[in-house]
Amino acid sequence: MPFGYRTGLIALTLLISVTASGETLTDHADPLIDSVTEKVVSWRRDLHEHPELGNREFRTSALIAKHLRSLGIEVTTNVAHTGVVGILRGAADKPMIALRADMDALPVKERVDLPFASKVTTQYGDREVGVMHACGHDNHMAILMGAAEVLAAMREKIPGSIKFIFQPAEEGAPEGEEGGAEMMVREGVLQDVSAIFGLHVGPGPLGSIAYRAGGFMASSDSFSVTINGRQTHGAVPWGGIDPIVVASQVVLGLQTITSRQLDSTLTPSIVTVGKIQGGVRFNIIPDSVEMLGTIRTFDPGVRQDIHRRIKRTAESIAESAGATAVVKIDKGTPVTSNDPALTRLMVATLEKAAGADKVGIMPRATTAEDFAYYQKQIPGLFFFLGVSDPEDENPASNHSPYFYADERALPVGVKAMTYLALEYLEKE
Ligand SMILES: [Zn+2]
Ligand SMILES: [Zn+2]
Repeated sequence: MPFGYRTGLIALTLLISVTASGETLTDHADPLIDSVTEKVVSWRRDLHEHPELGNREFRTSALIAKHLRSLGIEVTTNVAHTGVVGILRGAADKPMIALRADMDALPVKERVDLPFASKVTTQYGDREVGVMHACGHDNHMAILMGAAEVLAAMREKIPGSIKFIFQPAEEGAPEGEEGGAEMMVREGVLQDVSAIFGLHVGPGPLGSIAYRAGGFMASSDSFSVTINGRQTHGAVPWGGIDPIVVASQVVLGLQTITSRQLDSTLTPSIVTVGKIQGGVRFNIIPDSVEMLGTIRTFDPGVRQDIHRRIKRTAESIAESAGATAVVKIDKGTPVTSNDPALTRLMVATLEKAAGADKVGIMPRATTAEDFAYYQKQIPGLFFFLGVSDPEDENPASNHSPYFYADERALPVGVKAMTYLALEYLEKE
């Protein structure tokens, strides 16, 4: 276990405290980041080999809590089930920022040939599944553990406090349970925090950073529409009300919301019907049809607007046929939206961490990320770190059993998180 490094750390701190003044905080951080890299790599391999599903991150949270405590950081465990929150406390009159990493793995059987590949299996619902850090959250945790070590070694110099948020269940809590960022927020994790930063690894040039101001990862809501007609013989449609024809009209009607009703120059959005079910036999018109779908948007206003329009479209089309439509919308993850002012403030810091030529603006992603719940409360900046092996011409996406993060990107992640904390607090 890579925990016996405290003495080395203290020696380094002393060394830095006598370096010439006039150096910036990030100059002070650089040698500390170098010294922690080997440990970050080994934590990441260890976490990768021992993945745990959402709300079940028991070994993971114990390892993180132990590390934070060894650094003299104030630690709270069991936040929103298995979450770990550490506070590196500075002067009380100075601001506090938060750095966030997610901890959960996915029910995916790893197919990457690595000495530290996951062989873990577990029960998922009624099935035995492989477990893998197929979304790369092992990297996020190792990076934040490394940043915590660097920042703890510099605590005397930091003009504020830093909260380290290790969050469970980003991919969603198990059936029937709550969890993730929404629950962390409800349990008060953002108390006294003025800004939050987070990163995600993914396919992209090794060590590059991509960000975008405003809404850049979609809100993800699900909906169901039940069309209630009246059952009759397939040969006597006038004897009832055909919910299959009405449902077909509703599917097409819903498509006109994004294509014909919303201003397409403003922001993209998606309405998809992914499941439709009704009827038992070729010659019976059934009583009802149920359909399920998903809504993706990049703007909270558009999101509300689409909800209203789905209801109106389904109900009005059903009414025109004498049927009824029951619409239920389940609000999921909100839009992940980077605060424009905070983004502007911190872009230079990202460029300093990765190199100006390696930082770019990313396109929007229609996938969702529950970091959005923090950003609903306080300004936040979430960005992507490219972890593709330069030799790999066709890197696998997150959630693939072949997803692979090149660990040479890890120091860039540590640098970005450390620099963001230091420079934000310095600017405030
Ligand atoms: Zn994921
Ligand atoms: Zn993820």
